[in-house]
Amino acid sequence: MNNAKQVKLYGRVILTGTIRLRTGLHIGTSKDTLEIGGVDGPVIRNPVDRLPYIPGSSLKGKMRSLWEKVNGAEQNKSIGKDVTIHVCSKPDCRVCSIYGAPGEEATAAPTRLIVRDVPMNPDSVPSTVVDYTEVKWEAAIDRVTSAASPRQMERVPAGATFGPMEMVFSIYMEEDVQRFTDVLRALQLVEDDFLGGQGSRGSGKVSFENLALTVKVGAEYTEHTDDRFRGKSLKDLVALRGELVEWVRGLVVPSGGA
Ligand SMILES: [Zn+2]
Repeated sequence: MNNAKQVKLYGRVILTGTIRLRTGLHIGTSKDTLEIGGVDGPVIRNPVDRLPYIPGSSLKGKMRSLWEKVNGAEQNKSIGKDVTIHVCSKPDCRVCSIYGAPGEEATAAPTRLIVRDVPMNPDSVPSTVVDYTEVKWEAAIDRVTSAASPRQMERVPAGATFGPMEMVFSIYMEEDVQRFTDVLRALQLVEDDFLGGQGSRGSGKVSFENLALTVKVGAEYTEHTDDRFRGKSLKDLVALRGELVEWVRGLVVPSGGA
């Protein structure tokens, strides 16, 4: 890298909250880690405490793919068998400016959004539930012979909560303040879609709750919160987006420009 492009971080907006499962959630793990005698489709767990979690990459990937769809972004980059996504180097792309480019792809601007892994709250699942999951039998029916091929699918049950969810959105230019509201829109798209697998068969409906914003500003990294943007549902936070943008802009963007 020998271009002397200046990148200045004005501040960050940190969105925290809780993810509540409305239906069972299956985020699978690789077959390589299957235990002998285990279910065919185990959920991904933290190897240390064995609690299921939602990988930040799964949540961010879902947000990105839905955001690509509503923007009609060109699907131009193959990332393996049968999977094509959108990647470009336009600095004002509504997808890439927020979500970046996967892997080693060069981007025109720094990626704005970081999504952390979200741990499960163990108290949110009744103690009668073994290992925090239900095992659902699924059967694929042979269309000719009617023979069933049953397999077990592990899901975290409906009602479980995951948190704290944390998303960090970096502001490098004034337009980024407005861009943050696109993150909230992507979360709305996820609420009406699903996380993880088996979505078309009912799994993975989630809601984002108890949302709060923290803004950290400048080299001093001073921290700001506001009661207007704390303990909100996603719907309420979206309804406040005008006020929200004004608040963040007032904190982060230096008056009179850079
Ligand atoms: Zn793009």
